Amino acid sequence: MPVLPVLTPFAVDKAYSYRLSEEVGAAAEVGPGSIVQVPLGPRKVLGAVWSGPTDEHVDADRLRDVERVFPARPLSPQLLDFVDWVARYTLAPRGMVLRMVLRVPEALEPEAPIRGVRLSGPPPERLTDARRRVLDLLEGGFGWSRSGLAAAAGTSPSVVDGLVRSGTLEEVALQAGSPFAEPDPAYSSVSFTAEQTRAAEALRASVAAGGYSVSLLDGVTGSGKTEVYFEAVASALARRRQALILLPEIALTGQFLDRFEDRFGARPAEWHSDMPPKQRARVWRGVSDGTVRAVIGARSALFLPFRNLGVTIVDEEHDSAFKQEDGVTYNARDMAVVRGHIEKRPVVLSSATPSLETLTNADRGRYGHLVLASRATGADIPAIRAIDMRASRPEPGTFLSPALVGAMQETLENGNQVLLFLNRRGFAPLTLCRSCGYRFSCRNCSAWMVEHRFRGQLKCHHCGDTVPVPQSCPACGDVDSLVACGPGVERIAEEVGQRFADRHIIVLSSDLPGGTVRLKTEFAHIAAGEGDIIIGTQLVAKGHHFPKMALVGVVDADLGLSNGDPRAAERTFQLLSQVTGRAGRARTGGRGLVQTYAPDHPVIRAIVSGDRTAFYAAESRARESVALPPFGRLAALVISGPDRPAAEAYARSLARAAPPRPDVHVLGPAEAPIHRVRGRYRFRLLVRAPKTFDLSAYLRNWLDRAEPPRKGVRRQVDVDPVSFL
Ligand code: ADP
Ligand code: ZN
Repeated sequence: MPVLPVLTPFAVDKAYSYRLSEEVGAAAEVGPGSIVQVPLGPRKVLGAVWSGPTDEHVDADRLRDVERVFPARPLSPQLLDFVDWVARYTLAPRGMVLRMVLRVPEALEPEAPIRGVRLSGPPPERLTDARRRVLDLLEGGFGWSRSGLAAAAGTSPSVVDGLVRSGTLEEVALQAGSPFAEPDPAYSSVSFTAEQTRAAEALRASVAAGGYSVSLLDGVTGSGKTEVYFEAVASALARRRQALILLPEIALTGQFLDRFEDRFGARPAEWHSDMPPKQRARVWRGVSDGTVRAVIGARSALFLPFRNLGVTIVDEEHDSAFKQEDGVTYNARDMAVVRGHIEKRPVVLSSATPSLETLTNADRGRYGHLVLASRATGADIPAIRAIDMRASRPEPGTFLSPALVGAMQETLENGNQVLLFLNRRGFAPLTLCRSCGYRFSCRNCSAWMVEHRFRGQLKCHHCGDTVPVPQSCPACGDVDSLVACGPGVERIAEEVGQRFADRHIIVLSSDLPGGTVRLKTEFAHIAAGEGDIIIGTQLVAKGHHFPKMALVGVVDADLGLSNGDPRAAERTFQLLSQVTGRAGRARTGGRGLVQTYAPDHPVIRAIVSGDRTAFYAAESRARESVALPPFGRLAALVISGPDRPAAEAYARSLARAAPPRPDVHVLGPAEAPIHRVRGRYRFRLLVRAPKTFDLSAYLRNWLDRAEPPRKGVRRQVDVDPVSFL
């Protein structure tokens, strides 16, 4: 009997051996990619038949049997390769990568039919009004679900049940049907500008050519990048292939679905963690059997079982939301390129402010480079000016400079909207006692408690712990001595409310009650011109098109410039460009005002001058001189544990165990910038290596030989780290 390697979705690297009995093997075709149920210890678990030889030898008499084969289509050989590749690169156990593929076990079986009813016999003797309404609806012979029918007839399901009992209705299984309308590549067309046409043609050509390629679609905010990459999608669809569009904040982009529908006449399938399980199962199945042609998804959509992936688009490719920080630490932007390589299909990376990594790849000719230099609507790129806060001082206890307030007034009087951007949730990031200097910090983390005045709480943004806002100082007991230091969006809203009392103010952050559903509605309202002054965190920076937004004010441009992160300057430049890019998208005369105490900082100068090239060149030189990415490679090892000395000792022993190599530098261990999170003490090791070095293999070799952590100590590997906290 054949022996098969089966990988299970747990923290294991090995595919275990199982026997395929004639009985199970006869019932279904079984081969690499087949999804099966196998016994594992006392449990029955899911697994996928893997390719290649088995990883373990088991004596024939101890082999256990594959118990069943799921009716789902087998995973493609490309997807198996992809799982192996991601695991090898990130050092995650292969089973944990497979787990991201098999996330929706419901999807492995066909959808259960909905039970419904239809007319079958003569009407009952006693015909009440409710019964008559039910029977009227059933004229024509269509089947209805029991609850749907009752609701449509304005009665209770028991009335329907009564008609079934009397023989007037019979129960039937309703076909769930294909929930996915097919997008039509020729549904509508845009008349492109000359530069858009050039870019669109290049993308169409890359899809037509069929093989692997990467193109950077590099266009200023409002240049029509979406319309242009839709042409790549159209090309793939026209060839009966599937398209995947990855977005950093998918749950918030209702607007995006409308735009897709305007272009293709049907909505794409969505994929993100906010979806009900049944819907996720449908999308998974549809992607697998090919009835879903286009997916708009969060980073995890990259692990869907595409049958024939024709093109992958990564929109806002520079966005750090593409990096998953827990579990399997992968960057979906980079892994999209890997999947494209394995599938032998094109990948498009789109951004107004590309990552230095991607831009360098384009400069070196590894990626195609398509540039859109002007706004599609003919509007100008907004004029950006820095407000020197040392000269235009806010009144004591306030945060908006006279210059910004004046500009807001003017904009509102012209009937336009204002956006104030501050990347800080809550009311104030720090509360302290004026009498004794006590500061409120989290009991589990080395972090200040953030005041959320609207909820009356102090909250830790790392572990979520909350306490009611105290009335007196816990250290000295003074009453009325506590002061809020610095602003969050709630505090700016308070100030704006006092200055512009008759204006409609909307505050948007992830703390908004009602979650993403509410946020989506608010975005739609703002896009329709509702709300005078919008105050928001980075949620408002991304992708939205607000036609009446004429002024964007950045409350604190210096925030995030000095935090020890090698990408701090790049990240601030990207965020500020993106948020000021919300201004004046539909008309000329949009402007951005940036409050800063450091108007001469290179990032602020670059934002104001709009000289992106000079900024990237300077940033690139700075990184190259110290061999930081993209000119060298980094990996981080984070060691954490509830006992500080044990965590530190393990981090030190790990550092000593690093295989010596002249071109690899192991830095640390050092206490992490946030040295305690959720009660765990954290130490970091940073590994720096040359650009072409196989850092993953080096790490694997090192960690395999080092002693494993003990006593609650954990080690986390992060290849190509994005966060340095
Ligand atoms: P980006 O993604 O580059 O910021 P978008 O794709 O959102 O830009 O386009 C900005 C706006 O310009 C959208 O409303 C879009 O419909 C419109 N637009 C894009 N291309 C054209 C065009 N050729 N003619 C007219 N409007 C266009
Ligand atoms: Zn905390």
